[in-house]
Amino acid sequence: MTNALDILWATLEAVEPVLTPDAWRRLPTESRSVLAASKLFVPGPPAHRIRCPACVTPHMAPIIARPGPAGSTRLFVKCPREARVPITEAHRQTWRGNARSVAQSIAASLNLMGGIRARRSDRVIDCGNLESHGQRVSVYFARALCRRDGHRYAQAIPRSPLPSVVFVPSEIPPDDIWLEPKPLVLALSGNCELSDEALVVNGRIVEQSLAQRVDVRRDPQYLFRRAGDYWDVSFNGSGVIHIDHSVGMTYLALLLAAPYRDVAALDLLVARAGVHPDTIWGGAGEIADEEFLRQIRVRYSDLQTRKDEATKHHDLGTLHRVQQEMDQLAAELGRRMDRRGKPRKQTDAETVRKAVSNAVSRAIDGFKDHLPALRLHLTGAIKSGTVFTYLPEKELDWSL
Ligand SMILES: [Zn+2]
Repeated sequence: MTNALDILWATLEAVEPVLTPDAWRRLPTESRSVLAASKLFVPGPPAHRIRCPACVTPHMAPIIARPGPAGSTRLFVKCPREARVPITEAHRQTWRGNARSVAQSIAASLNLMGGIRARRSDRVIDCGNLESHGQRVSVYFARALCRRDGHRYAQAIPRSPLPSVVFVPSEIPPDDIWLEPKPLVLALSGNCELSDEALVVNGRIVEQSLAQRVDVRRDPQYLFRRAGDYWDVSFNGSGVIHIDHSVGMTYLALLLAAPYRDVAALDLLVARAGVHPDTIWGGAGEIADEEFLRQIRVRYSDLQTRKDEATKHHDLGTLHRVQQEMDQLAAELGRRMDRRGKPRKQTDAETVRKAVSNAVSRAIDGFKDHLPALRLHLTGAIKSGTVFTYLPEKELDWSL
């Protein structure tokens, strides 16, 4: 079914979202029937010219209509080989991508309130609104924004102090076509499926993206949160700064989450790998390496399943996150195993302490250009060793 939807998205990204009779007839029968049954494509005006259906070597020919018997109409094209080639209505039927039907599917999938209303032809459609984090969010469907006149339609979307969501078929337009405040733009491609001849939009992606957006907009004084390849950080109302991801940033986030508590270097290492610390400490406080490795392997195969799932559904966001975690685990496994897959002997506390300590210092140093006040704060407040402790002078309300 992915194929059928890909045709829809590609068509809707054109200024005139119309498939010629020939293009429509080239689609697999199954795709045609589901796209027509779901009203995602509706019959458009008859074409004036089509490709001659009688010839192997294609040539385009105008359609000629002549009165036939009993008030009927006879249709044919002129062909240099066959003279007159009779055709049917189906031969000249064009099909139009139905933006309104897509907007209705968005409204139904997300339980939007307020009804569907076209703003500008069928290029921008108001799909209604939803409540998110106590705010009313307007949702729009807009298409062909990447075409030359796209900015005109982008700017027809009403400006509002609250975040709005704009769904596009598949092409995310450049950032500069929007007026401030910019909306949250989401592609339908990869986030929809056809179920019982209805287009269903994955509502979770909206919730997730909005949660991130709304939190950042609230502009917390103390923010330390990962967003994909980078971290959103603010300190004492500095405004949000993006810092590249590193292992040390993960350690810092774990420490900020546990002020005034001793956290073993090994626990930090393990928490980063996504394994619960309790499972790797033996009764006598020894590192149970075999068990640790087993846990990592279980986690890895779990990630592999999620990766396959995400690949199947073209869920690029999840795919990216899962791949990152798999890379981290693979690196962890590499450090802890020799070439024959046996645990290395020297995973002692000292090695771990050094590795974690270096990563933390590097991350703290990374703030020197953009957030020197945070660097100063962390340098003073983080005690490092085999045990790490975050000891701020007063407790700060970190958004993590
Ligand atoms: Zn011909």
